[in-house]
Amino acid sequence: SVGLGPYAADAPASQALFDRAQAIVPGGVNSPVRAFRAVGGTPRFMVGGEGCWLTDADGRRYVDLVCSWGPLILGHAHPEVIDAITSAAAHGTSFGTPTPGEVVLGEEIVARTPVEQVRLVNSGTEATMSALRLARGYTGRAKVIKFAGCYHGHVDALLAAAGSGLATLALPDTPGVTGAAAGDTIVLPYNDIAAVEAAFAEHGPSIAAVITEAAAGNMGVVAPKDGFNGKLAELAHRHGALLIVDEVMTGFRVSRSGWAGLEPVDADLWTFGKVMGGGMPAAAFGGRASIMAALAPAGPVYQAGTLSGNPLACAAGLATLRLATTEVYTRLDATAATISKLASEALAAAGVPHVLSTAGSMFSIFFTASPVSNYDEARTQDVQAFKAFFHEMLSRGVYLPPSAYEAWFVSTAIDDDALAVIQAALPHAARAAA
Ligand code: PLP
Repeated sequence: SVGLGPYAADAPASQALFDRAQAIVPGGVNSPVRAFRAVGGTPRFMVGGEGCWLTDADGRRYVDLVCSWGPLILGHAHPEVIDAITSAAAHGTSFGTPTPGEVVLGEEIVARTPVEQVRLVNSGTEATMSALRLARGYTGRAKVIKFAGCYHGHVDALLAAAGSGLATLALPDTPGVTGAAAGDTIVLPYNDIAAVEAAFAEHGPSIAAVITEAAAGNMGVVAPKDGFNGKLAELAHRHGALLIVDEVMTGFRVSRSGWAGLEPVDADLWTFGKVMGGGMPAAAFGGRASIMAALAPAGPVYQAGTLSGNPLACAAGLATLRLATTEVYTRLDATAATISKLASEALAAAGVPHVLSTAGSMFSIFFTASPVSNYDEARTQDVQAFKAFFHEMLSRGVYLPPSAYEAWFVSTAIDDDALAVIQAALPHAARAAA
């Protein structure tokens, strides 16, 4: 039964699947952080999810604090979301034509966020890649400013000093990205306005855009300093550049309007993903109608997709957003506050140096004594301490992100039973990390 005793460190059924996977898939996984490289051990192969619980191939159950890396604000297999997907599937899975669902999902996004027009794509990577191309096409300029530790998907031009899996694996950048693809990328420290001013002073007329995570969540969670995002918009506009706010992680998670609901920022383009697909592949980029008009077929900037606006993905996303009322966000905030406080208290009681870092209902814990406002500071953490903490939590039925550089994600499905499992596990994990 759940959480009553430690699960063994080995997971034979998962290991057997991992062995098979490694024979045919590089590293055995289809996205690097899933491989448990930073924490070691056998990645758990999940066979089911229900509410806030995940079940692995060995039949063990875990409270899920990853939520598919953010999308599942309502938990797994929410009946209304599953209904929406199955009803849509009964009418066919893809048409390669416009469909009504795209219009309704697009309207919902426009109603909730600052964007005037939106285009649907299949992943956050596509959203940022397309927004960047549009910014370059619209301004006729080449350079882009990005911040170290921010992750915008695996877009060539944006993989320099990127967070997420690159932070987890300690990769500064990646072979395969040519100098030509990355040569127009200016990487600056997060939360450092003076650095942005200096970059504009030097390269102003050739900068197409600044791209930033609305609140950084891929080097661990690092909130933007007061006024940072606003100042980015001001500087970009003063120099004829665009501001792209990446809300793939924050969008429809930290409020019904995403980060924009917590802090209005005068950005030009926004990107969304994760929650808006309700656990299916859907993402979007959007912004001012005058800029979006530059996209084909209305304008010359090309962007397309065989499966974009897929009816099943739109149905899942729309069902999720329709269920995501103000009360849902109140509950997500409260649950995040409870869990983060419990974790921080347990670590403090065990004498483990740490920083609880929050941005709206997103949070993560840095295993370091010093404050964290950028990627260099995030990298002062003791990843060995995290590793011990992670495995102790896992053995007690709590599934955390298998990296010290990732946000923890909650869902409304977390109930008192799940909280009790988390609370029981934490003191053991904290002592293991000490
Ligand atoms: N942008 C941000 C802020 C993200 O967190 C992510 C993924 O974690 C992406 C973009 C890329 O999204 P995807 O993994 O759907 O390509």
